[in-house]
Amino acid sequence: MAAKIIDGQAVADEMNQQVSAAAAELKAAGKAPRLVAVQVGENPASKIYTNMQRKSCEAVGIEYELLDIPEDISQDDLLARIDELNNDAKVTGLILQMPVPSQIDARKVQVKIAPAKDVEGMHPENMGRLFYGGGIVSPCTAAAAVELLKRTVGSESELAGKEAVVVGHSEIVGKPIAMMLLESLRESPTVTVCHVATANLAAHTRQADIVFVAAGVSQAKWRGYNRRKKAGEAVELPDLSPLIKADMLKDGAIVIDVAINRIPKGFDDNREPIKNDKGRNAMMTVGDVDFDAAKDKLAAITPVPGGVGPVTVAMLLTNTIACAKAMQ
Ligand code: NAD
Repeated sequence: MAAKIIDGQAVADEMNQQVSAAAAELKAAGKAPRLVAVQVGENPASKIYTNMQRKSCEAVGIEYELLDIPEDISQDDLLARIDELNNDAKVTGLILQMPVPSQIDARKVQVKIAPAKDVEGMHPENMGRLFYGGGIVSPCTAAAAVELLKRTVGSESELAGKEAVVVGHSEIVGKPIAMMLLESLRESPTVTVCHVATANLAAHTRQADIVFVAAGVSQAKWRGYNRRKKAGEAVELPDLSPLIKADMLKDGAIVIDVAINRIPKGFDDNREPIKNDKGRNAMMTVGDVDFDAAKDKLAAITPVPGGVGPVTVAMLLTNTIACAKAMQ
């Protein structure tokens, strides 16, 4: 069997078209959606994200503002600034860019963002609504992963009676995926959540009709290896092969691979990463699933990159519209 390769970019394009139409309607009604990203201090890694956010917002007609806040701002002053943005009717969505400087407690700031402007769906009130149903927004990556499953099976009734396994139990991905899968009273799959302390991961994944994987194991190993090497420890090159091998998956399963692992493409005879033509480590982006080995036995699988990633961005824009509409 050749798996259907789930095209995340095509799904994202479709979602973005709906976002564009909704943004134009809101604008025409004098309620232009406006997303403000709060950046505390300079951070080259966040710059990549904020540039991408600006481009994505502008492409669909959402106003975008990057608010640069001095690196030495105090916690209290930052909370006061968030309050001002909460009370500014022109601001319909807010994001706190991570990481933040050490004097800032990111959790406290995120909780200060008004739930109605929390486009990332990370506020405890929005998280709590995952239990009750009827929330406006959900965490973007989890919502993107579940959206891809729903579009793959076509009808939610297809999920009743199925076994779903979620590998990873983080607050932003694994746990909300599990809650979203359990949303329907009558048509939810049976959900098992696995994590780093699960005794026999393969025993769970092998019996699953649907597998979500969000662990990021290969990248975590690569980072850990580099940290220890830098500290002067004698460390063995870790096994960077994917966490989920083909023989850990059931024939005909649907696999949604959320992970994004940046790891070297290969190693030379000295066990050093091979270099690209600029002399830097040649890196690749892969998921947690052995895509090439597994794809022929599956019904469907998301590629990495090109699966959950683009839909996560589209979900952020979708959430921004949902928040702007809720403010009307
Ligand atoms: P996290 O580090 O917070 O959580 C990792 C989870 O994996 C934990 O629940 C941990 O228990 C589990 N885990 C670790 N090792 C395991 C093992 N050997 N067996 C089973 N479970 C194991 O990570 P996160 O923020 O939830 O992100 C997970 C992955 O998803 C990462 O690769 C991240 O890059 C990716 N991600 C992708 C997007 C996207 O847009 N596609 C967005 C966010 C995160």
